[in-house]
Amino acid sequence: METFKIEIPTPYAVGDVNAFLVKGDALTLFDAGPKTEEAYDALKWGIRSAGYDMKDVEQVVLTHHHPDHVGWVDAFSHAEILGHAYVDHWMKKTPEFLHYHNTFYAKQLKEGGVPEKYIQRILKVKGEIELFGSLPLTGYLKEGDEIPGHKGLMVYETPGHGQSHLVFLEEGTRQCIGGDLLLERTSSNPLVEPPADLSMERPKSLLQYNASLQKLKALNVSKLYTGHGGEITEIGKLVDERLERQKQRAIKVYDYLVKPQTNFELTTQLFERIYQQQLGLTLSETLGQLDYLVENEMVEAKMQGGVIYYSRI
Ligand SMILES: [Zn+2]
Repeated sequence: METFKIEIPTPYAVGDVNAFLVKGDALTLFDAGPKTEEAYDALKWGIRSAGYDMKDVEQVVLTHHHPDHVGWVDAFSHAEILGHAYVDHWMKKTPEFLHYHNTFYAKQLKEGGVPEKYIQRILKVKGEIELFGSLPLTGYLKEGDEIPGHKGLMVYETPGHGQSHLVFLEEGTRQCIGGDLLLERTSSNPLVEPPADLSMERPKSLLQYNASLQKLKALNVSKLYTGHGGEITEIGKLVDERLERQKQRAIKVYDYLVKPQTNFELTTQLFERIYQQQLGLTLSETLGQLDYLVENEMVEAKMQGGVIYYSRI
């Protein structure tokens, strides 16, 4: 795979995001940075230093729908734009979807025992989606598909970090464009998100994520091109490290569960100093560990007056 890496600045704590320009029978850009001016410049100059022009890009393929990856699809209205069908909800942003999205989060937060004043604050932050692009996808990708114009570059569904997450593996060389599934230096957060089929059932993101990591490990990848930071070659070792660290976090949550508590109550203790500033993220983290403990039959969840209480079994 002839891959040209483009590092793009983002306004997020994670730092730069990577896009990859790949020349096959088609010229394809994998991911497109956030929709800021700085990102546009970086993308333009990156493509230029690879010897091409923005208008030469025939296809944009998205690893997942998060804003640091999908912003500048808007600069490629002449190209095909491909990704998981779920991405389209975020590009189109129909009033129905935005309403569904807010209703979903309000329900989850209420069940998590989050006080009303915090719920409003979180929903407001979630509403800031201007860094997303707005061009709808021209085609959908799913497990087993081949990327058009790139023979043997296959699509694998890897939900968890995002419900739309895909990775692309080149069969012969075992090189893989991996989005945010596994990063060199940071562990990627499995975020609470509305389900892909828009039922009200919350996907258990952390459990999905762990399964996706195992799937990646089994793919025998020689080189992983990541969404943030450098390429990874020792994938199995890093996957094992990440899974072990997650287990330790779950045990910490279990240790705090001396009496039945809500997700919110636990989060305020586990993240005493940062939960006020990063409530959405910290609630998501604790909920993931609780899902893991429930799945492993160490903890049970009981609904009481519309709120879920967790207790040790
Ligand atoms: Zn990212």
